[in-house]
Amino acid sequence: MARLDLHGIEKRFGTIDVLRDVNLSIADGEFIVLVGPSGCGKSTLLRMIAGLEDITAGDFLIDGQRMNDVAPRHRDIAMVFQSYALYPHMDVARNMGFSMEIRGAEKSARAARVAAAARTLGLDKLTERLPRALSGGQRQRVAMGRAIVREPRAFLFDEPLSNLDAALRVEMRLEIARLHQRLKATMVYVTHDQVEALTLADRIVVLNGGIVQQVGTPLDLYQAPANRFVAQFIGSPT
Ligand code: ADP
Ligand code: MG
Repeated sequence: MARLDLHGIEKRFGTIDVLRDVNLSIADGEFIVLVGPSGCGKSTLLRMIAGLEDITAGDFLIDGQRMNDVAPRHRDIAMVFQSYALYPHMDVARNMGFSMEIRGAEKSARAARVAAAARTLGLDKLTERLPRALSGGQRQRVAMGRAIVREPRAFLFDEPLSNLDAALRVEMRLEIARLHQRLKATMVYVTHDQVEALTLADRIVVLNGGIVQQVGTPLDLYQAPANRFVAQFIGSPT
């Protein structure tokens, strides 16, 4: 797994400043939760880490190596989205192994990793199903399985549970916490959900208007919110 460093990251779309001077060091194996109102730049920040969006200014490093101009497939970072984006015509096993398949990995190696990921996520009995024959929660597991199979250097999650009902959200949140413990993986997780943020995060990053308001443990933010905005999000007394 990997350490991620963001130094003075800026992002502009035309004349719109979307991110301003974002500085953040994410330790190897750390679980970072990114929160903030709609439109504040959370998805843009994840997409820049994944390499799906250019960086206007500043530096992004993985394990000390500058990645600004490195293509997504060479960054080795997996992203899990809110919409599962599964291939409808491929069964669960092939969906999970497809990233290895296009890299030319051998069938037996692929099958072993897919089987391990399926076991981890409780999908062992569903590997031959097509996505349309799965529930929402099962589809989200397949999307996570696809990320695990890649054995990436870091995982990015963009509001992965917001399409699920409340009970499933709880179940999947616990699943993600277990996954983090088992893989000891570096994870950056965007959510609107305060409970998800407080229970999953080693540290929470609060973003507003493209500016980092505060970075700290859930307890730090609760006990000493940097401003009213953070206090409101975290629900601490002001
Ligand atoms: P969040 O995920 O926090 O809701 P986003 O990162 O999706 O926010 O968007 C941040 C801001 O950047 C928004 O104002 C959005 O309209 C703008 N934005 C995002 N992508 C583009 C784009 N490709 N072109 C122009 N503006 C964009
Ligand atoms: Mg978003």
